[in-house]
Amino acid sequence: MHFDLRQLGRHGGAARDEHLERSFAPSAFETPDAREDAYRVVAPVHLVMDVHKDGDTYRVTGRVQTQLELECGRCLESFPVPVDSTFELRYIPAAANAGEGEREVEEDDLTTAFYKDEKLDLGELMHEQFVLALPMKPLCSEGCKGLCPQCGTNLNKASCDCSPAWKDARLAGLQALLKRDKEN
Ligand SMILES: [Zn+2]
Ligand SMILES: [Zn+2]
Repeated sequence: MHFDLRQLGRHGGAARDEHLERSFAPSAFETPDAREDAYRVVAPVHLVMDVHKDGDTYRVTGRVQTQLELECGRCLESFPVPVDSTFELRYIPAAANAGEGEREVEEDDLTTAFYKDEKLDLGELMHEQFVLALPMKPLCSEGCKGLCPQCGTNLNKASCDCSPAWKDARLAGLQALLKRDKEN
């Protein structure tokens, strides 16, 4: 999943620009190493982008669309997260990041990314966009009731006999605190 920057302009356009449209199967995002992503890609990923060369800097604008799947933090069920993100990035050579000579960072809102070996890592680009699209708290719904902490029943789907007792216990603790507060 790389874009070779040396092919810029090969398709008859201006030598500094390239328009690119690609689709990736979900399987392309299954990482062979043990990296545990919080999400799973469950639909083909459509990537459209324009690359514009300016010296050794590349300005990349585009859009990525797919559907991800996350695990709910409360009930542990999978739920879909649609992704339709636009992005605008500036790519500079990776070496410019490492050297002692501090490279001036331009004063604008563009996110700076790095390329090496004259290639853009599209997998990394899309991964970044997915991470940005993820909710802070993964919940299948705002009102997800989660699992019963005692018997593990998914309380969205069924009820159990132990949950009222658990609530009462918490309330009792709270009431004791409030009472103590008043007495002080
Ligand atoms: Zn849930
Ligand atoms: Zn229960």
